[in-house]
Amino acid sequence: MSVYDQADPHRFKRRGLLFVLSSPSGAGKSTIARKLLADEPDLYMSVSATTRSIRPGEQDGKDYRFVGLETFRDMVANHEFLEWAHVFGERYGTPKAPVDAMLKSGHDVLFDIDWQGAQQLHQIAGGDVVRVFILPPSMEELHERLKRRATDSEEIIDRRMARAANEISHWDGYDYVLVNDDVEDCFAKVKTILAAERLKRSRQTGLIGFIRGLTR
Ligand code: ADP
Ligand code: 5GP
Repeated sequence: MSVYDQADPHRFKRRGLLFVLSSPSGAGKSTIARKLLADEPDLYMSVSATTRSIRPGEQDGKDYRFVGLETFRDMVANHEFLEWAHVFGERYGTPKAPVDAMLKSGHDVLFDIDWQGAQQLHQIAGGDVVRVFILPPSMEELHERLKRRATDSEEIIDRRMARAANEISHWDGYDYVLVNDDVEDCFAKVKTILAAERLKRSRQTGLIGFIRGLTR
């Protein structure tokens, strides 16, 4: 076997990475996240806690942990969050313990969080964080997608559209920015980013032992 073949990243112990997907609501990050999780057995989703109410079709503990304001405040006071933020007048936070456990067991973790969360994670975990921002091809298409998704009232859709420009203004806080025009094309790009980031030398902690063995 050539040295090149042996450089398969799965042969080496690797540092887990924190893979963040953000976008204005409706641009397609949940769609991309679902496809990624189905395709990547080493990738686990971070389930956030939120004070917002559960929507039809959502499952407590799977989509979010739905908690009351008091519980959320207690979790903040007990330092249970890696990061948390106000979004759409509600509170959203990333519980710390499950992320630590997933990273410790050698898995990568996927986050569907907003720009405030991406910024906080980057402050805490720096080089272990990969931030990807997904843009819609146009604001008209964003509006159409929110309507087609049919999960929100017209009033909520208007609020999401009103916030979209502000969210997009944080595009420069990300490592990668993609336009989700064709979903398969965008998904392929996200997979390429994940694959390349996993191969980074700094993440392949087992590489040193391999190099020593090679040159002994
Ligand atoms: P987000 O998680 O960013 O709020 P979703 O993933 O829920 O967005 O996508 C919003 C809607 O747009 C969904 O109905 C989804 O099926 C659809 N959608 C996602 N990506 C595309 C795309 N590239 N082209 C057309 N529709 C899309
Ligand atoms: P939704 O209510 O539509 O599920 O999510 C609204 C927004 O909150 C999305 O932009 C989503 O990325 C963001 N969000 C979800 N969970 C978290 C979290 O734990 N932290 C932060 N900062 N944002 C979150």
